[in-house]
Amino acid sequence: MMTKKITDENVEKVRELIESNDKIVIVTHLSPDGDALGASLGLYHFLDAIEKDVNVVVPNAFPAFLSWASGSKEIVFFDKYPEFAAQLIEDAELIFCLDFNILKRLGDMSAFVEKSSAEKVLIDHHLHPDDFCRVVISHPEVSSTGELIFRLICRMGAFDMINKHCAENIYMGMMTDTGAFVYNSNDPDVYFIISQLLGKGIDKDQIYRRVYCDYSENRVRLTGFAVTERMKIYPEYKTAVIYLSLEDLKNHRYKNGDTEGIVNIPLSIHDIVFSVFIREDKDKIKLSFRSVGNFPANLPATEHFGGGGHLNAAGGDFQGSLADAVKRIEEILPLYKHFLSDSGT
Ligand code: 5GP
Ligand code: MN
Repeated sequence: MMTKKITDENVEKVRELIESNDKIVIVTHLSPDGDALGASLGLYHFLDAIEKDVNVVVPNAFPAFLSWASGSKEIVFFDKYPEFAAQLIEDAELIFCLDFNILKRLGDMSAFVEKSSAEKVLIDHHLHPDDFCRVVISHPEVSSTGELIFRLICRMGAFDMINKHCAENIYMGMMTDTGAFVYNSNDPDVYFIISQLLGKGIDKDQIYRRVYCDYSENRVRLTGFAVTERMKIYPEYKTAVIYLSLEDLKNHRYKNGDTEGIVNIPLSIHDIVFSVFIREDKDKIKLSFRSVGNFPANLPATEHFGGGGHLNAAGGDFQGSLADAVKRIEEILPLYKHFLSDSGT
């Protein structure tokens, strides 16, 4: 048995919306990660199984190591097919917004979702969701949006409609948002849910290998380069910074997703509690923040980089050069010195 998280009222509202609407679109955030994709495709397989006209529309590409996910070939990419994607969003009667809390996280797609007359349901686990959906299922205390999809389907009395494809995607979401169950994963319900998903025939060991052991040689070399050539340690702040330029990425034939996980590496160093990964993109500098213990990674993300996120995982942007972004981090670290030096694992 699981503890109840989603309210009866929200379960009922979603059930009614699914029953009374046929054309359904699922959207998720820019550069979809394992949970964004897993939750979206998990819900997609469920809605497909109950014979809804359902499409998953995402702003841009997801990493190649997620492309094995069942249903991923049916996904519509807004950046590749903007007119088709916009039409699907406009024609939708019901839109599920998964794994994000503010419309801005959809990039250029946000305007289309905002103006669509469809009913909208938010299912997410980020703090402080904006008010842009009729039904808001927001639970920052759960591991992943994938977990919420499982909970919602079960609470609607439709556990039997979860097929293996649906279960695999839900598991992928839960696994990737907990770093393969090493953080945000102390809730016993997580393991109850996994046991139920195993009962649907998923091969969890194979899913792990597909996600974490199927990298290109270039990706592994880029990771090594980042650690040996581009990592700075600030012992007085228990902080590490890794930065990569467009040139560095080009030299390693960078593909979308190749830098995922680099930000976690410095946290394996003794007494490092805060890690910042800074990547130069074509139009901006992207920052990822990770922490262990009680230092809120989302604080610098929100206060200085127009971003946000969770306690231990956050992100934001910077306009300027890569060197200036590193400098900015060095300038703000003293502001958090007290917090950081008190932080332990
Ligand atoms: P990542 O470092 O994997 O890109 O992002 C980690 C988490 O930080 C995401 O799950 C998301 O919650 C948050 N995040 C990343 N980038 C941004 C951003 O630009 N704005 C906001 N609000 N949150 C972000
Ligand atoms: Mn998530």
